[in-house]
Amino acid sequence: MSMKIVTILGARPQFIKASVVSSAFSHAGINEIIIHTGQHFDSLMSDIFFQDLDLPQPHYHLNIHSLNHGAMTGRMMEKIEEILLKDPPNWICVYGDTNSTLAGTLVAAKLHIPLAHIEAGLRSFNREMPEEVNRVVTDHLSKLLFAPTPLAVQCLQKEGISQGVHLVGDVMKDAILNYQAKAKQTSNLLAKHKLSPNEFYLATIHRPSNTDDSHRLSSILESFTKLDFPVVFPIHPRTQAQIGKMDLSHYLETDSIVVIPPVSYLDMLMLESASRSVITDSGGIQKEAYILGRPCFTLRNETEWKETVELGWNLLVQPETLSESIANFSQPSEWPTLYGNGDAATKITEIIMAN
Ligand code: UDP
Repeated sequence: MSMKIVTILGARPQFIKASVVSSAFSHAGINEIIIHTGQHFDSLMSDIFFQDLDLPQPHYHLNIHSLNHGAMTGRMMEKIEEILLKDPPNWICVYGDTNSTLAGTLVAAKLHIPLAHIEAGLRSFNREMPEEVNRVVTDHLSKLLFAPTPLAVQCLQKEGISQGVHLVGDVMKDAILNYQAKAKQTSNLLAKHKLSPNEFYLATIHRPSNTDDSHRLSSILESFTKLDFPVVFPIHPRTQAQIGKMDLSHYLETDSIVVIPPVSYLDMLMLESASRSVITDSGGIQKEAYILGRPCFTLRNETEWKETVELGWNLLVQPETLSESIANFSQPSEWPTLYGNGDAATKITEIIMAN
């Protein structure tokens, strides 16, 4: 009988990560059952990734979203448990650090089903971030921990976790290598918005620390208006909702900010590659900027992707220092390979099969 793995996902970055792993599972003859919790639900945050990427439609869609953390995680757990009790798999696979990750983790632990965590060992050391709580719990309950960087392996060691830890590289690197050519062939976003390479900044903002305080959010939007080139701003639904609620929409009406709806992964790869620099609070986008050789200005106090900062490609900035940091930036001469060689998904599959 072939190995059965249940993959639990629900948020945009997880669809992208899972697309390459899912392909590797399928090549290895693994029977993968996908549970989509529904955490990200609108078509531009979810459906579009299932259309563009090699990710099969989910077998189950739980449609659980727009709730506080406790209600969301609890309801997800209830539904995931029902499914797993009916038909337990050999492994459960979770990605990253969302509430969907946490819900899958807790159910796996309670049902004694071995858990594989992809993107294990990341730490910001800021426990006010909901993601940090989710990661710590997931890592401590996982049987296999797939670390993307040597630093992630060290962070796990410091918490006493060394068994089951495998440094495999980052599946997001696999995704870039896998989809870059398709993005070049199919994306027409630059032409559609009349964007010339190197003549715009690309910004994304969605972390609660940046969107939930109106002073902070308005300083960020204001900082975008002070730059020497326009800022293309694919806006996350929660950020858009907060801007509406806080009455900050006037910032989006200036010529210096080009607001667009969230874009597909293929369009995002094009935007990132063609931008002068990336301005973000996203975890994934900091890495992508590095892999694509673009400078990154991260609007946070700390990052899980410290290697990009140490190499000088990523600067932690505040809205007040953004334009100065951009003006004074000088590109480092060294650009070493990080995040593996694009074979993380294959390694993960081989390791799971061997366990
Ligand atoms: N992304 C995308 N379209 C967008 C914004 C982001 O495809 O409009 C991709 C991005 O390229 C990266 C992932 O989504 O692969 C990052 O997700 P996000 O920033 O939502 O989450 P985080 O990485 O911070 O958890």
